[in-house]
Amino acid sequence: MRMKKWFSNLGYRIQYFMQGRYGYDELCRFLSVSALVLLLLSYIPYLGFFYIVALTLLVWSCFRSFSKNIYKRQMERQKYLTIKNKIRSRFVLCRNIWRERKTHKYYRCLHCKATVRISKPEKGKIITIRCPKCGQEFRKSTASGGKRLLQSCRHKPD
Ligand SMILES: [Zn+2]
Repeated sequence: MRMKKWFSNLGYRIQYFMQGRYGYDELCRFLSVSALVLLLLSYIPYLGFFYIVALTLLVWSCFRSFSKNIYKRQMERQKYLTIKNKIRSRFVLCRNIWRERKTHKYYRCLHCKATVRISKPEKGKIITIRCPKCGQEFRKSTASGGKRLLQSCRHKPD
């Protein structure tokens, strides 16, 4: 009977305990999922040390959830999301470069570092590209025909 009461109060107790604490967010999820993956990998011979790393990540995730310094945790979350978005957009760019490799070419503007997409020019020519972001022009030789994924542009003296 007492046990039943204890369990029926559990939700309330947890709520009370979590009052004023930060809680679970995207970074916590990332940490716990990574911990789980590392935990599985730690069964592979010579990768046993992943166990320690996984535990550390789990403790970190719990620490963040129970933390009362909400402002600092929000800052961490913002930083995490910024890095995640950067990696994701980089991935999308690489995927687009590969998908459109026959029709379009991507260059990086020398002035503002923006990515410029143009329909694929003939090989072995020097073309002038106007950056749509900063409006500046730069010249680019198309001789090297797409060996590198994203070629940074260099000014070629005429
Ligand atoms: Zn530019």
